[in-house]
Amino acid sequence: MSLYKRFETAFMPNYGVPPVALARGEGTRVWDVDGNEYLDFIGGIATSSLGHAHPALVEAVSKQVATIAHTSNLFLHEPEVLLAEKLLTLLNAPGKVFFANSGTEANEAAYKLAVKYGKREGRSYFVAAENGFHGRTIGALSLTGKPSIRDQFGPFPIDVRFVPYGDATALKEAVTGDCIAVFLEPTQGEAGVVPPPEGYFEAAREICDSTGALLVADEIQSAIGRTGHWFAHQADGVTPDILTLAKGLGGGLPIGACIGFGDAGKLFAKGDHGSTFGGNPVACAAALAVLDNVDLDHVRSASARLRSGLESIRHPLLKGVRGRGLWLATVLSEPRSAEVQSAAQSAGFLVNALQPDAVRIAPPLVVTAEEIDKFLATYPAILSEAAK
Ligand SMILES: *Cc1c(COP(=O)(O)O)cnc(C)c1O
Repeated sequence: MSLYKRFETAFMPNYGVPPVALARGEGTRVWDVDGNEYLDFIGGIATSSLGHAHPALVEAVSKQVATIAHTSNLFLHEPEVLLAEKLLTLLNAPGKVFFANSGTEANEAAYKLAVKYGKREGRSYFVAAENGFHGRTIGALSLTGKPSIRDQFGPFPIDVRFVPYGDATALKEAVTGDCIAVFLEPTQGEAGVVPPPEGYFEAAREICDSTGALLVADEIQSAIGRTGHWFAHQADGVTPDILTLAKGLGGGLPIGACIGFGDAGKLFAKGDHGSTFGGNPVACAAALAVLDNVDLDHVRSASARLRSGLESIRHPLLKGVRGRGLWLATVLSEPRSAEVQSAAQSAGFLVNALQPDAVRIAPPLVVTAEEIDKFLATYPAILSEAAK
């Protein structure tokens, strides 16, 4: 029986059967179980920051697993302290860290911090963005503005009011002195890599300051160099009250983080939250290797090359390019992203049909100029194949 058939037999159908079974990788290159080679221009959904099998990541993880793999939170260990300190240094703002294992768990921590704040201040509801994505567990799902994945699992414990993303006036109307917190992505990832209009995050900061609502920046997809900055909010010139991280932080190892700045970092009391695996030494060692090896100058030059190359392609199926850094969507003139994904696969490139009219491109942050040029040289033919 093929691996695909066995997958279908053994697994719940929530993912369907993915189109490629990957066996191994090296840098931006991956090979499937049949030995076919691809250039990975999706990086495990903007997660494999250092590409595959990066020597520094391999060494850090191997060393740590051979030293001590797990302590639980009954005991502390040096890698978690080093990682928290390093993140706070990069953030350059006084804060406190909680480690989880995934994006949705990082947001659950943010959600619980906000609940504590809401109870203390006598506030009653959250605001989040339409089409926003914050994760699949019940708290994070309640903040997710996609009715198709949210509604069937309601009702949810807290009232969440949704506003159109990027509309500062709508945000201002929705956020009153009764609002606990505003959850926003600095650029919406799952919605199609949609950056907000200029000034939106500054406006959100002002609205939260004037009403006392907490601003929660979900940077699970946008941080760790993805936009050419360590954190997207730094480019926007705004510090949130709470920040959540995951995806790119571990370079493929599961880790999430929730960081509270100022007063928001002091909301949890002893016993309020926890995770057996959160801050696991191996995951922390991986994240430290990522932070030591992401080269922001390289990300900026690579993303400029990729973006200008894509923008110079003239093709009837290609309407435009949007996004930030090495985190782009090619927007199609027709809903043919599934065809683009499969034509790309046939041509030896992995991309992601994110929305019917948007193809996500998020290569590892170590992608080379030659690899980008190869992709750019082939993309017009991929589009033509998809348009057939
Ligand atoms: C991926 C993602 C999440 C969820 O992360 P998981 O690790 O899949 O739980 C939450 N928010 C954003 C913005 C994401 O991109």
